Amino acid sequence: MKMKALVIESPRQAVVRELPVPRAKPGEIVVRVKRAGICGTDIHIYNGEYLSPYPIVPGHEFSGIVSEVGEGVEGFREGDRVSADPNLSCGRCRFCLSGRANHCERWAAIGVTLPGAMAEYVAVPAELAMRLSDRLSFAEAALVEPVACVVQALRRLKPGTADSALLFGAGAMGQQWVQALAMSGVSELVVVDLAEEKLEMAAKWGATRTVPGGRVAEELEDRRGKNGFDIVVDTTGIPRVIEDSFQYLGPCGRYVQFGVTTEEATVALRTFGLYQMEWTLIGSMALNHTFAPALAWLEAGRLSVGHLVTRELSLEGALEFFRGDRRSSDMKVQISFE
Ligand SMILES: [Zn+2]
Ligand SMILES: [Zn+2]
Repeated sequence: MKMKALVIESPRQAVVRELPVPRAKPGEIVVRVKRAGICGTDIHIYNGEYLSPYPIVPGHEFSGIVSEVGEGVEGFREGDRVSADPNLSCGRCRFCLSGRANHCERWAAIGVTLPGAMAEYVAVPAELAMRLSDRLSFAEAALVEPVACVVQALRRLKPGTADSALLFGAGAMGQQWVQALAMSGVSELVVVDLAEEKLEMAAKWGATRTVPGGRVAEELEDRRGKNGFDIVVDTTGIPRVIEDSFQYLGPCGRYVQFGVTTEEATVALRTFGLYQMEWTLIGSMALNHTFAPALAWLEAGRLSVGHLVTRELSLEGALEFFRGDRRSSDMKVQISFE
């Protein structure tokens, strides 16, 4: 049996073509994909700026229906609605054994190093999949993975009660941060973005103040140095935004690098500032056993993500998206097979 898949054959060379439908190996399920989200990481993979081998079928944020159950799999049946943590870890290396599975020595990920969900079918280790209730749409369920990345970052950050926070970027990830930080009890939540409609959305979902990207220097002039924020989060991955953001980090401030830059990007950091202000710099990469808590958040309706999906594309449409058909109004763009 054949299926259609989006294949990145080498950096900036992608096609939609037929591939054999994967068969479920022992311990695996095969999922007929309903939704696959396109994320910034996929664009980095397309551009040759991430950890992927080529050719690769991208797609690590997905939902669908179980179409085949492999030998030895318990707890899943054909027809189950599912989503899955795309990250495979060995469970035996020194990182897995010390709670750092996202740094596993034998790490692999569906859609990053293994065939992903920008295809009609994807094979998934059953232990990584979770069944969905009927309350969640496939569109929402394909957002559990990004939410799980936010959960992971929040667990690393541990926002404190009534901390003040400054967030750069109000795209799909930034909006999840807005809701999550608002829930976690920060006092002030200032959000910066270039797009007016994204700032409006942030204000609706918990930002206490929004600042247009071009006006940060003026509007936050009095929030530099000692008057800076307890928490600064970057979701843009843009080096010049990152470099600029440190001046708004207050005494004992915690900075979170959540946005993905290219592998080579660097920024200048005033090291005396780091010393004198006693900053903590926190990186947060992917997720680490946070898929279940993220799904719990969504199932309980504590976090809302349905409105973040601003475009639904076919595989061919996704190809055009990778080639540059991207809009400033895009938030989460998904491939839909529904
Ligand atoms: Zn992603
Ligand atoms: Zn490991």
